[in-house]
Amino acid sequence: MLSPSRILPGMPSEPRQLVSRPASPTLTHDTSSLVNGGAVLAAALQKKMNRKRKANSLDIEPKTPQVAEPIPAAESETGDTIASGAATPTARPRQSGSLVAHGHDDLVTRMKNIEMIELGRHRIRPWYFAPYPQEMVNLPCIYICEFCLKYRKSKKCLERHLIKCKLKHPPGNEIYRKGSISFFEIDGRKNKCYAQNLCLLAKLFLDHKTLYYDTDPFLFYVMTEFDSRGFHIVGYFSKEKESTEDYNVACILTLPPYQRKGYGKLLIEFSYELSKFEGKTGSPEKPLSDLGLLSYRSYWAQTILDILMHSKPVGDNEKPIITINEICELTSIKKEDVISTLQNLNLINYYKGQYIISVNRETIQQHEKAMEKRMLRIDPKCLHWTPKDWSKRAKCV
Ligand SMILES: [Zn+2]
Repeated sequence: MLSPSRILPGMPSEPRQLVSRPASPTLTHDTSSLVNGGAVLAAALQKKMNRKRKANSLDIEPKTPQVAEPIPAAESETGDTIASGAATPTARPRQSGSLVAHGHDDLVTRMKNIEMIELGRHRIRPWYFAPYPQEMVNLPCIYICEFCLKYRKSKKCLERHLIKCKLKHPPGNEIYRKGSISFFEIDGRKNKCYAQNLCLLAKLFLDHKTLYYDTDPFLFYVMTEFDSRGFHIVGYFSKEKESTEDYNVACILTLPPYQRKGYGKLLIEFSYELSKFEGKTGSPEKPLSDLGLLSYRSYWAQTILDILMHSKPVGDNEKPIITINEICELTSIKKEDVISTLQNLNLINYYKGQYIISVNRETIQQHEKAMEKRMLRIDPKCLHWTPKDWSKRAKCV
């Protein structure tokens, strides 16, 4: 059954040109004349993705594997946890990523080398390799200051550090607060040690990245939960100050103790809220981790279904009309992610020469149930932030 039905403009084979509004076709409940146009769209999209993949592989191949060097032991600091990030394929290996995808598998960089970390109240068993200094490896536990993320080799050393460390929150500006949730914006150039330690910590939970220490081109958005002891890190994402490919997230991670509680989706929602403030659409860098991809797919589906549910018909007997471009504008989700989401949800059909979106009752009910469970939401009114024009700043320096 097709209720309610959403009508899309006639979709040419190249989905990118979806702008004009066609006359709305009348939708009957006669499903026999409906042809599934998903296949056509999928083929077009696949073709496009193949072209992209080909280009990427050409670019990536000459790369030599970049193996991260341990931070010099002297004034080293600790990193933190990341969930997913991606490399921008360029002709030469980019040296500026906070975490960059492996060009090739490198067994040495993938062997887990840290037994345990202690971060605030949490003891966490790492999942993957991270290039901590040699004297930190093979210890039963590494002790990390949960506010400045510096690491120490014993509880005593950390206690000594905590007497001197006055931080009770991440460095940088608090740009969002609602209830106990805050977001801090950290400039990878101004707070290099913190940013490097964050990347190092993140690497413990990401296996598809190589760590770099040039954090200058990135901003880090750290989400915290507040209590009487301070602002405790829950997760973060990094973002290039200037992205030529419309990436709005480089790496994203919810720390293991906070996973499966809706925080990952909150991080994603926040990243799109920033893009809305910038008046842009954005997409996460690829590859995403398995966990990252699941969270993104779920976020995209819920966000787009919500738009479809709430779109209103123009006339009395009309079906609601919305274009893919309008969905992009409302959500800041990049067009190819909108299209792939509509396909994954099986919502696109071809009817009398038009592509239409039809949502059945079951999908609506599932969606409503999922939204009821989604208690943690970003409130745009609580975001106090003005986007900076980093291209202008670069020229001034
Ligand atoms: Zn500290």
